[in-house]
Amino acid sequence: MSEAEILNVEEAPKTSCPKVAPAHKEGQQAEVDTRKNLIGMDKEDMLEAVLEMGEAKFRAKQLFQWVYNRGVTDFNDMTNMAKPLRAKMAEHFKIERPTISVHQKSKDGTQKWLLKYDDGNEAETVYIPEDDRGTLCVSSQVGCTLTCTFCHTGTQKLVRNLTPGDIVGQVMLARDALEEWPASSIDRRLTNIVFMGMGEPLYNTDNVIKALKICMDGEGIALSKRRITVSTSGVVPDIARIGDETGALLAISLHATNDELRNKIVPINRKWNIEKLLEAVRNYPGLSNSSRVTWEYVMLKDVNDSEDDARQLLKLLKGIPSKVNLIPFNPWPGSEYEQSTPEQIKKFADVIWNAGYSCPVRKTRGEDILAACGQLKSESQRVPLRLQKQFEAQRLEKEREAGLPSI
Ligand code: SAH
Ligand code: SF4
Repeated sequence: MSEAEILNVEEAPKTSCPKVAPAHKEGQQAEVDTRKNLIGMDKEDMLEAVLEMGEAKFRAKQLFQWVYNRGVTDFNDMTNMAKPLRAKMAEHFKIERPTISVHQKSKDGTQKWLLKYDDGNEAETVYIPEDDRGTLCVSSQVGCTLTCTFCHTGTQKLVRNLTPGDIVGQVMLARDALEEWPASSIDRRLTNIVFMGMGEPLYNTDNVIKALKICMDGEGIALSKRRITVSTSGVVPDIARIGDETGALLAISLHATNDELRNKIVPINRKWNIEKLLEAVRNYPGLSNSSRVTWEYVMLKDVNDSEDDARQLLKLLKGIPSKVNLIPFNPWPGSEYEQSTPEQIKKFADVIWNAGYSCPVRKTRGEDILAACGQLKSESQRVPLRLQKQFEAQRLEKEREAGLPSI
């Protein structure tokens, strides 16, 4: 689809409060902004900060509600605090969302935000409206240390973990755009969150768990744990923590049904193979027929899409409350795969479906704004061979750094 078909690309204004500007004149000391950002703080952090200021305990709860449930950005709107207290709060704290670099809206209603954090790093968030729900796909890292061969995010060199505030900020920013404050209002459009944007959530588990708890708090962002899904490529040791500490739903990026292929396309398999992964899923806290695990399976033409593969998949899932989500491969500049044909996807899906599993094929959304899975941070041109070789070299380097045994 051409650039011209993009409905709306706007260079968005900064949404955050202005920072204390540094002084540039010679001899003048640069002013440092010492205000703590409330976004990203949980109830305990706020309590600690309020007590440090010499204020009463109950103020922490009020702050929490104003920030996460009402979505206020200005301390003057905190009407259950007297004016002098509001001023004091504003001296100590700020309520700052990530800065929006670009905000795009697709013809199909999908919205994508490119966000810039204070250190200049960027990550993306995508909102996908459907008839019965609205899902926000959030990023957990800038880039990804893993190097799944079909994923564009994996080719990015730069990686850093997003903080709880960076993550929760994505949800708040989407709520701003959808004008959905207070968070607990009925008929919300943003109903679900999936950790399927950039990054591997379980290589940033502590921050992801803290963000999840804020999102699930009834006095905060107030989304049910049954509506939040964490997707992992298979960081086995941390899988149970998500269930134990948050109760969120689990999705596993399986993509291959034997170790030989999975070692190649999902390299983390060399560290934790399919058998270990299945064991961790079987033991996932809270797994039941009403809280099934989602197996994500990217459909790569002639690589993993045969009916034999589908039958092998059924063998693996046996006894595990499961649903399967087939994702037609989304190409990106320089990618080495092709999308399976619709006929082949149907044949694969039929095998799964006939065995009694739900097996939706994920619709590609926001294609005109490159908002689909694995396309995040794409460029519009085809990448020359020279760059493809560079990607490959980067992959090997990142795999070494991540401690993955080579194949
Ligand atoms: N790192 C986590 C979550 C982010 S990726 C994970 O791997 O699970 C979210 C989903 O998009 C994963 O299932 C991933 O394998 C899939 N994906 C990545 N690149 C893709 C592409 N080009 N086409 C289709 N799906 C892709
Ligand atoms: Fe990382 Fe997930 Fe992409 Fe693999 S699929 S490189 S784990 S973001």
